[in-house]
Amino acid sequence: MPAAQFAVFGHPISHSLSPQIHRAFAQQFGIELDYRAIDAAPADFAAAVQRFFAEDGRGANVTLPHKAAAFALADTRSEAATRAGSANVLTRMPDGRLAAHNTDGAGMVRDLTERHDMDLRGHTALLLGAGGAAHGVAWNLLDAGVATLTIVNRSAEAADVLADAIGDPARAHTRYWEDLASIGSYDLIVNATSAGVLGAALQLPLSLVGARALCYDLSYGAAAGSFLTWARTAGARSAFDGLGMLVETAADAFELWHGQRPDTEPVYQSLRQPAA
Ligand code: NDP
Repeated sequence: MPAAQFAVFGHPISHSLSPQIHRAFAQQFGIELDYRAIDAAPADFAAAVQRFFAEDGRGANVTLPHKAAAFALADTRSEAATRAGSANVLTRMPDGRLAAHNTDGAGMVRDLTERHDMDLRGHTALLLGAGGAAHGVAWNLLDAGVATLTIVNRSAEAADVLADAIGDPARAHTRYWEDLASIGSYDLIVNATSAGVLGAALQLPLSLVGARALCYDLSYGAAAGSFLTWARTAGARSAFDGLGMLVETAADAFELWHGQRPDTEPVYQSLRQPAA
C-alpha cells in the first residue's frame, strides 16, 4: 500500500521544518508517511491544493501567505479557523470535501502553559501585530485567562478589525503603535509581527516590559533574535521564541490526521540542537 500523502504549502517553503517534524512524529508510531513541501505562488495555490487532494492527498499544512486562501477554499471550517478567518490545516474528509482548521492559537498557548509552565491567568497582555498569526492566537490568549488584551499594530485599522471581531471591549481593545512609549507596562508581550522574518528590528520602548513580564515571539531562530534581546535587556522574567509553538501546532494537525497524539518534546529538543 502506498504511504499516505501529506504536504505543506507555502511560498517560499524551502525553509519549512514541517516535513522534518511530521516525519519524526510518524516514526514514533511506525507510520509510513509521504510528506512533501509544495511551493505554490498565490495565483497557483487553489489549483495546487485541488490537484494534491485529487491525487490522493489526505492532509495539508498551510503557511504564509496562503492561510486566508486555505480558509476560503475549504468546504467546512472549525470554530478556531472561523474566528481567525484563516486556516493552517486542510483535511480531506471521507466524502471528499475539504475541512479547514487553525491550530496556531492552541499550539502557542500549550507551548507557553505546558512546555514553559506559565500561568497566563490575570496577565495584562500586549499583542503586537494584527495579521493572520495575531488573529490565530488572540482568542486563545483570552481563553487562557489573560485579564486584558491590548492589540497594537503598525496600521491601526487592522488592529481595530481584530478587536471588533473579538467583540469584548472590556477585555480586548486597541492602542496606536505611535503611543507604545506612553501606554505603560504589561505582564505578557507577544510579538506576532513578521518584522523579524522580514529582516527588520522593531524599535520598542523598554518601558513596555513590566516587572517579571513574559515575552514571546511567534517567529523563531534568527528572526526572533532582536525581540528576545530587547526583552532580556528590558528585564523580562522569561523570553521565548515560537519554535515550541510550531511543534505543538504540528502535533495538533498530526492528531487530526492520524488519530494519535505524538510526543512533542523529543522533536522540539532535536530542533533546538545546533546543527552538527
Ligand atoms: P502577516 O503577513 O499576516 O502579518 C504581518 C504582521 O506584521 C502585520 O500585523 C504587520 O503590520 C506586521 N509587521 C510587519 N513588518 C512590520 C514592521 N517592520 N514593524 C511593525 N509591524 C510589522 O503574517 P502572519 O501574521 O501570518 O505571521 C506573523 C509572524 O508569525 C511571522 O513571523 C510568522 O513566521 C510567525 N508565525 C509563527 C508560527 C509558529 O508556529 N511559530 C505560526 C504562524 C506564524 P501591518 O498590518 O501594519 O502591515
